[in-house]
Amino acid sequence: MILILCLGCFLGALAQKKQTQSLAKPKLVLGIVVDQMRYDYLYRYADKYGQGGFKRLMNEGFSCKNNHYHYASTITGPGHAAVYTGSVPAVNGIVGNDWYDRFLKKNIYVAEDSTVLAVGTDPNAVEGKRSPVNMHTSTITDQLKLATNFRSKVIGIALKDRGGILPAGHSADAAYWFDAKSGNWITSTYYMNELPKWVKDWNDSKRVQGLLNTTWDPLLPIGEYADSEEDNQPYENTLAGEKEPVFPHTIKTFASIPASPFGNTITKEMALATLENEQMGMGKETDFLCVSFSSPDYVGHATGTHSIEIEDTYLRLDRDIEEMLNHLDKKLGKNNYLVFLTADHGVVDIAAYLKKHKIPAGSIESGKEVNYLNGLLVEKFGEGKWILSEDNYQLYLNHELLQSKNISITQIHEFLQKNMLGMASPVYQLINMHELPNVNLPPYYLPLLQNIYNPKRSGDLMILLEPAWLYGYKKGTSHGTMWQYDRHVPLLWYGWNIPQGFTVEQTYIADIAPTLAALLNILEPNGAVGKPIPAIFKK
Ligand SMILES: [Zn+2]
Repeated sequence: MILILCLGCFLGALAQKKQTQSLAKPKLVLGIVVDQMRYDYLYRYADKYGQGGFKRLMNEGFSCKNNHYHYASTITGPGHAAVYTGSVPAVNGIVGNDWYDRFLKKNIYVAEDSTVLAVGTDPNAVEGKRSPVNMHTSTITDQLKLATNFRSKVIGIALKDRGGILPAGHSADAAYWFDAKSGNWITSTYYMNELPKWVKDWNDSKRVQGLLNTTWDPLLPIGEYADSEEDNQPYENTLAGEKEPVFPHTIKTFASIPASPFGNTITKEMALATLENEQMGMGKETDFLCVSFSSPDYVGHATGTHSIEIEDTYLRLDRDIEEMLNHLDKKLGKNNYLVFLTADHGVVDIAAYLKKHKIPAGSIESGKEVNYLNGLLVEKFGEGKWILSEDNYQLYLNHELLQSKNISITQIHEFLQKNMLGMASPVYQLINMHELPNVNLPPYYLPLLQNIYNPKRSGDLMILLEPAWLYGYKKGTSHGTMWQYDRHVPLLWYGWNIPQGFTVEQTYIADIAPTLAALLNILEPNGAVGKPIPAIFKK
């Protein structure tokens, strides 16, 4: 009897395998980008993860363990663009979340588009005037659209507009993001003139309103968070509307939702609703759902890498991911869908926390450096606004003023460099971005700067701080540098045509889109610089 049953299982498994192999393409690609997920989070909390979330992706799928960003401006906008364009800021133009536009003479936001209106809230709300128009190259999602004569459905979802918009590409069917003013999922007229009925219903369901005044308690007894520091450290920031950074947290306003694990929960719910209502994966062509979980970034900025808050956020996200995978198993069948998971950047440990453990680190108050440096330039070269803006650690010099006084960028660079590199200074180097590749940096680091230099959008000089130093945060922490903690992020593959295993070979974020292109037999994005990851194709 047992033998017959086992034989039945064996034949069933064989039939299933045959059926799997006969599928020429996956029904769906699910791209998951976790905002600020550093590589070590995969392992540090592993004993508390369930078997069905991160561990299922790692144990049954393929892990690229040595996966890095290949550029220095490790920030959300560039990260999402790099994942999906297979490219770098130098080429796709996404050099920051914001940058100084020399032609418009003002700072612009990565996803801003004044030609479109908001949909799902006040049409003139700036939160809705968003599109991918500032991204110069195509995405893997655009390429899928082109390959299927636009029959494939592509939708992007994230709390942050840029986390939904950039991945879904230029030709997306939709991108939805969370408007913390109205509490609605919204979009823009770039995609549609009216929200689909099911999105309106979701907004009308008052799901988000129902979260107000609820508390965020730790998932496990608080004593079990042994991989984090005790709650309420002096260098943790409070969450919106709170007096102390301590459990239980209360969700006081819509704006508190993104900075709690409930932001991930509503993102997951919106993703499942999209799959269901848009019938994704149910047509003849491969569809592509891009989901970005933004909450870990908000929580991480406030409370840091060793807080109970961030550990709890990942334990809960693990369960959200498990639920999504279980849903796809049921709906599309195991192995009929393809998943990748990565992050848009990493993060540095809170400076005060590192210093407490004698590891060199520090934080410089932000917003004062431009005035200070401009003061030095006035003293040396005369009156004027020498520095127009500082974004992404880059100084945008006033070219007109330089020209009128017959002073070169090299002169400014040499003068400032001399003043900034004192013995006790946390400045490692001041880089003249126009002199790349002749900058004296170890060969490992030089391409990280070359890959962010975009002549139209980059600044003239770039301030490189020593490792574990950053601008701006007395409490909490951030990211945005070329050092390893900001660039080393997970890359997991799972499902359709993905072998089980791992590699420690160097892979880069820009390899994701070309790997997807090779898996799907479509063209890579037009500005791609990465290449398919060979280990994934070894059977
Ligand atoms: Zn961030």
